[in-house]
Amino acid sequence: MYDLIIIRYGEIGLKGDNINDFINQLVANIKRATSDLGDFEITTIFGRIFLKAEAAKINAICQRLINVPGIISLSPAQKFNYSSKKVSEFDQSDFNRLKKQVVRLFRAEVQNYPTTFKVETTRADKSFPIKSPALSRELGAEILRQVEGPETELKVDVHQPEHLLEVEIRRGKIYIFVRREAGPGGLPVKSSGKALLLLSGGIDSPVAGWLGLKRGLSLEAVYFNSPPYTSERAKQKVIDLTKILSRYGGEIKLQIPYFTAIQQAILKKCPRRYTVTIMRRMMIRIANQLAAQNESLALVTGENLGQVASQTLEGLRSSDQVAKFPVLRPLITMDKNEIIKLAKKIASYQISIRPHEDCCTIFVPQNPVTQPKLATVEYAEEELAIEELVKEAIAKMEIITINEGAC
Ligand code: ATP
Ligand code: MG
Repeated sequence: MYDLIIIRYGEIGLKGDNINDFINQLVANIKRATSDLGDFEITTIFGRIFLKAEAAKINAICQRLINVPGIISLSPAQKFNYSSKKVSEFDQSDFNRLKKQVVRLFRAEVQNYPTTFKVETTRADKSFPIKSPALSRELGAEILRQVEGPETELKVDVHQPEHLLEVEIRRGKIYIFVRREAGPGGLPVKSSGKALLLLSGGIDSPVAGWLGLKRGLSLEAVYFNSPPYTSERAKQKVIDLTKILSRYGGEIKLQIPYFTAIQQAILKKCPRRYTVTIMRRMMIRIANQLAAQNESLALVTGENLGQVASQTLEGLRSSDQVAKFPVLRPLITMDKNEIIKLAKKIASYQISIRPHEDCCTIFVPQNPVTQPKLATVEYAEEELAIEELVKEAIAKMEIITINEGAC
């Protein structure tokens, strides 16, 4: 039924001189997200991207595109082919054919009655001879005439219609569509550079990673693994979460350093109440090295203010003190239920709630310090052979490259 998809981007439009870089990145991401479905013709006309495809593939392509950051909405659409060469020469016979096409599309898309609708026209090309309100009115009247019947009770509702049939006239072309599907919004992946996500098996860090992707980051990830205290199943969870993120962000290199020796050393040599604080700092130290190796420019965590004992300003500061890159914490002010809502939306939630042992939960003391003092932390760390421990964790690191093909 459809022969193209109209893709709308939001914020990219505000980027001034760089706008073409952003659009080119988005087009590249769209191509990659759909590459296994075919090689489609993509054109960009100010404010819109058009993807041409055969009707049978349109739905599958839309399902991919609703996950591509940078896309604010999209509509499967039909192009109207009129007999005259120019929009300005649009005549009565063209109009009759347009009416027929609009009615056909409406009938095909609208199945459940009674219902309400509205026709809305955007006339970006002012050479088109009929003004928008008049065109909308006439097409709406035609739909009522042709579609309304005892079994298809239909009313116009200009305020909150259940179906909005849109007609867009731009650059000598007319497009009609009845659906707008929401994309994630934000910026195209890779347009803001690369960052290293500290990815646990929990609910929070995958959501933090997704929010980073949505702000145009591309991601690599690190999961600190502590076998045998943590199981293969816990690791598989993180691999599955990385797959979810990869749907939105393309290839992700998941790095799994060997963290067991570090945790054992901390447990043996540091004051019990400080183990979590010091463990966090060791994670950051390893992350520093990985980010530098992979040319990432920031770290991303799922930390949130006040959610657990280590997530106080003092705790965050003690981590930041050893960080060599900015630590982005997209969830910092969010409530848990807001985070869960997002986790459900991006489909990570069901994986995150699988039972597993986290390397942190095993080593969490009864009464962890909530306001670690930097001097005390540094003093407590003096017993650790920090450099060697970091080196060993990275030397025994496993690397898995995941690409679920989203973009
Ligand atoms: P999450 O739900 O993401 O596990 P959390 O609420 O359990 O977070 P913490 O356990 O304090 O909070 O972890 C805070 C952040 O530290 C996590 O969001 C994640 O970014 C990072 N982190 C914790 N454990 C690990 C791990 N084993 N590997 C990688 N990153 C981790
Ligand atoms: Mg956790």
